[in-house]
Formats: sequence, structure tokens, C-alpha cells
Amino acid sequence: MSCAHNRSRRPRPAKALGAFILGVLLTCVGNSGPAAETTLPLFDTHVHYNRDDWDAFSPEAVIALMQQAGVTRALVSSTPDDGSLMLYRHDAARIVPILRPYRTPADRVDWFRSDAVLAYIEQRLEQKGYRGIGEFHLTDADHAAGDHIARLGQLAVEQGLVLHVHSGAEVIRALFATAPQASILWAHAGMSAPPALITELLDSHPGLWTEVSLRAGDIAPGGRLNDEWRALFLRHPDRFMIGSDTWTTSIWPDYVNVIQQHRNWLRQLPEDVAAKIAYDNAARLFAR
Ligand SMILES: [Zn+2]
Repeated sequence: MSCAHNRSRRPRPAKALGAFILGVLLTCVGNSGPAAETTLPLFDTHVHYNRDDWDAFSPEAVIALMQQAGVTRALVSSTPDDGSLMLYRHDAARIVPILRPYRTPADRVDWFRSDAVLAYIEQRLEQKGYRGIGEFHLTDADHAAGDHIARLGQLAVEQGLVLHVHSGAEVIRALFATAPQASILWAHAGMSAPPALITELLDSHPGLWTEVSLRAGDIAPGGRLNDEWRALFLRHPDRFMIGSDTWTTSIWPDYVNVIQQHRNWLRQLPEDVAAKIAYDNAARLFAR
């Protein structure tokens, strides 16, 4: 596609020339469709395709948004799980399904002590193809110490599944106490955990990875990569991943922009580190 339509004969002040050229380049990239996929490929490790989304966005529409954003693979969990399997059936090369324990949103409250949910998880895992269990929420370290979570950890280790956990730091410590061999992907890097605390956890637990969905504002306030986060990424370049978190339907129209916010800070890192965080770390952890 030609970008000739962007040329203007109107004289421009020299000061604005750089911005103008950048604008033309960006517009050209934006207009070229598939070219977006040939830029730094991204593995989005925090996607939900929940029941509320199904009428507004067909599986084809969701896959098209991922293509537009240059997301070549995506870790998907949904309430109910059928949403993940619908996307997987549409694009098995791109979609990596993990099993969410919530049959309905109500399960979120007490899933970690429910016999019915545990039975559901065990039965559902008999279908092969899942690469993890989650994303699930634990708000209290005591909740990570019960029999049900011990069984969940055992299932995960036996079947080589990653646990995708939305929690604070204390729960992560409790989970490793319950299931020391588990591989844990810490959602949102703890959501509000500061870099020093994330460093401490990654230093202490070699089985811990983290994804930074919803953290772009902390990582790069005003668009500029924060120094503490940069140091953290350079200290543990193999342990970070990016994610969008499409937790509610209203995120989907903004999906390309959410992904673009990650591209912005990634390009302020050394190229090899950016490539690991963008894609390689997740590809290795969720290798089939
Ligand atoms: Zn989520």
C-alpha cells in the first residue's frame, strides 16, 4: 500500500518536520495491516474471553484485534472456560488455553475451598491441551495453605501446568510453601507491588515468573521507562512477560492501544531483553 496520500504540499516549519516524518511513518505502519505482525512479535499472557464478551466480539473479531496489535500468541483463561476453547478452536497456533476454576463469576469468592470446583478442575483437565490453571484470585495467605490448594499444586506439578495467580506477595510465599515445585506466573506483578518487593520474590523463587498487565503506567509514567523497573528487567530478563487483561468487555475496543503501551516501554530496553519480555519468556514457559 502506498502512503502517498499522506504527502502534503503545504510548507511546514522546520521544527515540526521531525514530528511530521514520524507521523507519516507511523501512519504508513498503521495502514499496512499485516506489517504490524512483522514488528516485535508479542505473546499476550493475560487474556480473558468471558461470556459477556461473546455477543459483542466474535472469535474472529478477537483474533483480528490480536493480528492488528501484533500479538502472535495469547494465554487465555475465561469464565466460563468454554470461551477459551472457542478461541483455541479458531486459532490453535495462536491461542494457549489455561483452565480457569470459575464456572461462573460467583465461584471467585470461595473456589479455593470448594469440593465442587476441585472436582470440576480434575474432570476438565482430562481434556488435554491446557498449559496451566488460572487466572485465579487468592486474597489471603491462609487460603493458599488449605488442602484444596495443595491438591491443585500437586495436579499442576504432575501435569506440567503453570499456576496463573492474582494475589499479593504473601500469597505467593504461601503457595510456594504449599507447592514448592510449582511454576507460578504472578499476575500484574502483584498489581501494586513495588520493584523492590518483586525483586525480592524473584530472587527467592526460581519457579516464579511474572506478567505486567495493567502496570504500564507504573513501568513508564508519562511514557518514560522508570529507572527502578529498568533495573528489575535487566536483573531478571528471563522472568517477565507482558499482558493486556481483557477482564471486561469494554477493554476489547481499546485492545490495540493497551498493547501499544507495552511496546512503548519495551523499545526503551536493550533489544535482546525486550524480545525476551515481549515473547520468548512466555514461549519457553508455555512450550507445547
Ligand atoms: Zn485477569
